[in-house]
Amino acid sequence: MSRDSTKREKIARILKHLERAHGKRTWVSSGPCLDELVYAMLSQNTNMANSDSGYRQLRRKFSTWTQVMNADVRDVQRQIAVCGLARMRARRLQALLRRIKEERGALDLQFLATLPPPDAYDYLMQFHGIGPKTAAYTLLFSLGVPMFPVDNGILRMAKRLRLVRAKARDAEASRTLESITPPKKVYALHVLMFTHAKKMCRPRNPKCGECALLEVCSYGQRRMRHAPPSELEIPLRKRPVILSRWMSDGLSNNNGDDLATPSSDLPRVGFRVQVPLRPNPVRAG
Ligand code: SF4
Repeated sequence: MSRDSTKREKIARILKHLERAHGKRTWVSSGPCLDELVYAMLSQNTNMANSDSGYRQLRRKFSTWTQVMNADVRDVQRQIAVCGLARMRARRLQALLRRIKEERGALDLQFLATLPPPDAYDYLMQFHGIGPKTAAYTLLFSLGVPMFPVDNGILRMAKRLRLVRAKARDAEASRTLESITPPKKVYALHVLMFTHAKKMCRPRNPKCGECALLEVCSYGQRRMRHAPPSELEIPLRKRPVILSRWMSDGLSNNNGDDLATPSSDLPRVGFRVQVPLRPNPVRAG
């Protein structure tokens, strides 16, 4: 059996386990392609809460992308300030919109659905500030093109599950995962791996003991073999009993009070020695 077919089988098992653990996921378009692209651009190098908030504020202020394109750059900058690097993002966003308008005559990217996936990907990648993850994310979520965006969590999990090389970067991991995942399952696997990486396969202290993927994860199995026993499994350590103390109990001045256990509870093994008092020597007169 070739290496790729073994990995394909492993992917099928992983997907089955993940669906059982987190539920099935079916692709539904997240919105127009240009909207998704702008959202993906705003989510670079920031967390989800900030990118959500920046995007919502931008849409509230400008109802169309034409308005964003023609607005004063400082006005755009103000709306997306919460995402950080606002000046750079605002300039890139307006440059992208102008270029799409020039090339296509309209601010619309739905035509990408009609292109072969590699052409659609290359089209997005030519814009300044759009990398492999942003392009793949836009095509997958908006148009259902089977591209596998790889973020830090998915990369970490794919390495632990030995689906990609230990030294693979996100672009390589994305290509590998695309090649071994059936196109119709790419969306479900991406979303489920993203969820699982956040909840269970965390960077530190992954929850391997509770993980549904333990049977296919040699990294997790090794961790479990070397894990310290839980508190309940650790036998209670008894204090060593010093027999010599018991033996000398009968001779002890403080009657064995230096022992943790009261001397009355201990078996009396020793014996008491009675030393007779000596009379004072009488001097001979
Ligand atoms: S067993 Fe552990 S390392 Fe493997 S996928 Fe699950 S949480 Fe991650």
